[in-house]
Amino acid sequence: MPEEAPMKNVVCEKSRKALQFVEDVTCNADEVQRKVLAEILSRNANVEYLQRYGLDGNKADRETFKKVMPVVSYEDLKPDIERISNGDTSQILCSQPISEFLTSSGTSAGERKLMPTIEEELGRRSLLYSLLMPVMNQFVPGLDRGKGMYFLFIKSEAKTPGGLLARPVLTSYYKSSYFRERPYDPYTNYTSPNETILCQDSYQSMYSQLLCGLCQNYDVLRVGAVFASGFIRAIKFLEKHWILLCNDIRNGKIDSKISDPSVREAVLKILKPNQKLADFIEAECSRESWKGIITRLWPNTKYIDVIVTGTMSQYIPTLDYYSNGLPLVCTMYASSECYFGLNLNPLSKPSEVSYTLIPTMAYFEFLPVNRTAPTPLGQKTDQELVDLVDVKLGEEYELVVTTYAGLYRYRVGDILRVAGFKNKAPQFNFVCRKNVVLSIDADKTDEVELQNAVQNAAKHLLPFGASLTEYTSYADTSKIPGHYVLFWEICLSGSAPIHPSVFEDCCLAIEESLNSVYRQGRVSDKSIGPLEIRITEKGTFDRLMDFALSQGASINQYKAPRCVKYAPIIELLNSRVVSNYFSPKCPKWVPGHKQWCTPN
Ligand code: AMP
Repeated sequence: MPEEAPMKNVVCEKSRKALQFVEDVTCNADEVQRKVLAEILSRNANVEYLQRYGLDGNKADRETFKKVMPVVSYEDLKPDIERISNGDTSQILCSQPISEFLTSSGTSAGERKLMPTIEEELGRRSLLYSLLMPVMNQFVPGLDRGKGMYFLFIKSEAKTPGGLLARPVLTSYYKSSYFRERPYDPYTNYTSPNETILCQDSYQSMYSQLLCGLCQNYDVLRVGAVFASGFIRAIKFLEKHWILLCNDIRNGKIDSKISDPSVREAVLKILKPNQKLADFIEAECSRESWKGIITRLWPNTKYIDVIVTGTMSQYIPTLDYYSNGLPLVCTMYASSECYFGLNLNPLSKPSEVSYTLIPTMAYFEFLPVNRTAPTPLGQKTDQELVDLVDVKLGEEYELVVTTYAGLYRYRVGDILRVAGFKNKAPQFNFVCRKNVVLSIDADKTDEVELQNAVQNAAKHLLPFGASLTEYTSYADTSKIPGHYVLFWEICLSGSAPIHPSVFEDCCLAIEESLNSVYRQGRVSDKSIGPLEIRITEKGTFDRLMDFALSQGASINQYKAPRCVKYAPIIELLNSRVVSNYFSPKCPKWVPGHKQWCTPN
């Protein structure tokens, strides 16, 4: 461990510089954006994609760029992405070599989208991370005097037919030297040794991270995970395995199920026999209520660092319960396409969180959202895009990015609302992801996918003289892991009852039809529970319509919602359930796209 006083000076200086950087780029947001675009275009002047549209990247200014280049979505880029994935190394999108593909949780035709990236993007991501703690330290000082207990995981990777790695952005980051070989810094001092984070086996990784977190419980000043769902999964894991964990702490030995030698070695450097700690944890965990368990086991925790904006807001009550209402801090907003920005007011309430886009990360444009006639993704837009500094307070926009890695005017699919400004740079509330109806963890299921999946499944009813007349759905997160619930109203023409296995087959058929992120959540991450179909009494959906009309809906325009979130509606549906069925097993899932092989 470096000496304390010089280390403190280094940290202070780093923090000062980070905050100054935020100040500078937000004061000069428009100039920075102009420079970023010019740099992206000039570097990539010779790439096929820009030339296809007759753009001379060396000369083009912002106005020409906007006139010539189309606003695109993934489907438009798919042929180019497929060429790269099949091994074409010519300069198609970017002049720098594509180093790997980042697999987004957004899907196309049921498979993860592949986002090309280049080596230097790791530096840009690392820069955004380096801003988080200096900002946080302004609001919660003293965080350098302890550790962060963060549950971080890598996921499986695959190789494209052309030999490029395809993996989630965080897997790429944690495996990079930026993370693995980070110099000592009290702000990136975590309870989890790198080896436990980099362990591919999710059970061993979770177990060893919890074990290390428990052993160092008094050092922990902040806890977290990337998304709220991941953090709650860790607490649920603790609920199931605390006896084993206490045994390990009591004896100073690791359970034999933890077989990865590098994990065992790293954990043994931390784990020492500690009867007192084991008794304490045992006493806390065996109490009937787990309310406030986080503050009981890690008493110095000041906040929980997890994303609870967007669909993750459904987990706020559970987090409040386990933490006795500790502050929930959402620090950043990022994606596989690009890391966007950070929350400069991290102690704000989840409902008020806003993210300041950092103008050096990419060139940002904004498509005004027309609530009455939205432009579907994949459809051309005639609307003028607005620049970063020209967005209007209170207005909603869809985010469009031009990145160093070769995306030009790419629609990310997120809707943001302008909540304020930091100097000249806008700050955005995350409103929603376009079209997503169901989400438990990283999965994002849209209405069309759900419709197709339900249609496929409903075919199983036909041989039994039954058909599906109406359906809706909701994401049930009252238990962990959460699961998809489908309410079905069916019409029976025969008199014989339908065997439960038929409905179970329907559950599985829906799961098999859903996208690979959903199926990975079911099979590999175990972050999503078995899908459930609840059969409702005849006339339930008429009741649903009556309810909507009583709330002011127009009878001419009424359509049954394909997803419900409003508690009274869910109650109404639940009160009319006659039977329910769960998927009997996991759907099929393999890493990578269906047609690829996995690396050795
Ligand atoms: P992925 O491409 O799988 O990395 O997912 C990126 C997407 O996750 C973004 O486009 C958002 O829809 C969502 N996301 C990322 N960060 C946040 C955040 N802080 N709040 C809400 N949603 C987020």
